[in-house]
Amino acid sequence: MAAEPRSQSTVFYERAVNVMPGGVNSPVRAFKAVGGSPPFIASGSGPRLTTVDGDDLIDFISSWGALILGHAEPEIVAAVEEAARRGTSFGVPTVQEVEIAELVSDMVPSIEVMRLVNSGTEATASAVRVARAATGRPGIVKFEGCYHGHADPFLVKAGSGAATLGEPDSPGVPVATVGDTHICRFNDLETVARALEENEIAAVIVEPVAGNMGVVPPEEGFLPGLRTMCDESGALLIFDEVMTGFRVARGGAQERYQVIPDLTCLGKVISGGTPSAAYGGRADLMRWVAPDGPVYQAGTLAGNPLAVAAGLATLRHLHENPEIYDVLEIMGAGMEEALQASLDTNGVKGCVQRVGAMLTVFFGPGRVGSWDEASTVDRETFAAFFSAAYQEGVLLPPSPFEALFLMKAHAGVIDQATEALVAAIESVA
Ligand SMILES: *Cc1c(COP(=O)(O)O)cnc(C)c1O
Repeated sequence: MAAEPRSQSTVFYERAVNVMPGGVNSPVRAFKAVGGSPPFIASGSGPRLTTVDGDDLIDFISSWGALILGHAEPEIVAAVEEAARRGTSFGVPTVQEVEIAELVSDMVPSIEVMRLVNSGTEATASAVRVARAATGRPGIVKFEGCYHGHADPFLVKAGSGAATLGEPDSPGVPVATVGDTHICRFNDLETVARALEENEIAAVIVEPVAGNMGVVPPEEGFLPGLRTMCDESGALLIFDEVMTGFRVARGGAQERYQVIPDLTCLGKVISGGTPSAAYGGRADLMRWVAPDGPVYQAGTLAGNPLAVAAGLATLRHLHENPEIYDVLEIMGAGMEEALQASLDTNGVKGCVQRVGAMLTVFFGPGRVGSWDEASTVDRETFAAFFSAAYQEGVLLPPSPFEALFLMKAHAGVIDQATEALVAAIESVA
């Protein structure tokens, strides 16, 4: 697919595999699910990427959702340049860290107090540590198909039954480490009720819109139901909004669905495309964190000036231009409608699911509400769709279980991109 034989990308990839696992720094970048080898990127601008081979692609990976404005947005570049000139890291407080925390609190009011960390993985692991400390309970509930980073307690494949105790998903994770992780079915409150009843649960952690099994919206009543059940059982509700934060609405999924968690994890958009993330929430809970409280959590580069500059510039732009969310919604709705119509008229089984600026085309199932349904997708048809889109000049996330991420910069190319994807669907029919 992607790179032509003996393209520059292929040459770089051959070098890469000698010195890096799979030739990459994060597994999905190896493009294993779609065959071939990945293109190497020389640069990005707005909605487009240029590969080292000179190919020009409209990008919907969008740094896996970390970018919501566009590549190399002048405002962000300027902010990072200016910060770099002042010094790349101090390990002593800066004003901008206060400014970003205040702005996040403004945009996501349930976050009264927050801590910056370096990745979504750290944010979720830290939030769970706080929840366990504050409740004095060991258990966590997570949902099959939801991804919360690669910390040990979350690397659990769900058993077949509901609320079964998980087996580790990866060698190297001791069974004991996941022994307190209870797996429930997304959009299935009964499984949660059982898990809460049978175990000492500190927290229910959920992607309020699942995005890591492809886009699976919460069914009506699911998120409010979790809120009620947590309140009744004394468990905390953690929204992992690393993907949905500042994306499905300015205030994230909690604003869109009007359900307020106790703790929230943020990443991706808050980073402006740099290594940065955060967790935060109710002040009484966050005061458990050192040095206010006894829960240890730290980071040499947390709140790094370059990362904070990029994040702050991004959030300010979103805060001051809330109409961006209307534009993303309109672009997303248009694409959703066109792709679903193309599936239908071409007799291709499948469905398009979308929330705001996240969209997935599932080939096969007519509707996906949970992982057991997502896992039935036709992976071969997806791979063919991916390759056809690439030939049309559109770069999709190279996995059937990921979302396309819309950016503000897509506005100028959305019709062209949609036509290309419609043509890609026709070619796999
Ligand atoms: C991406 C993601 C993470 C992990 O974030 P990293 O920065 O990759 O560690 C956690 N949770 C969700 C919902 C994510 O989408």
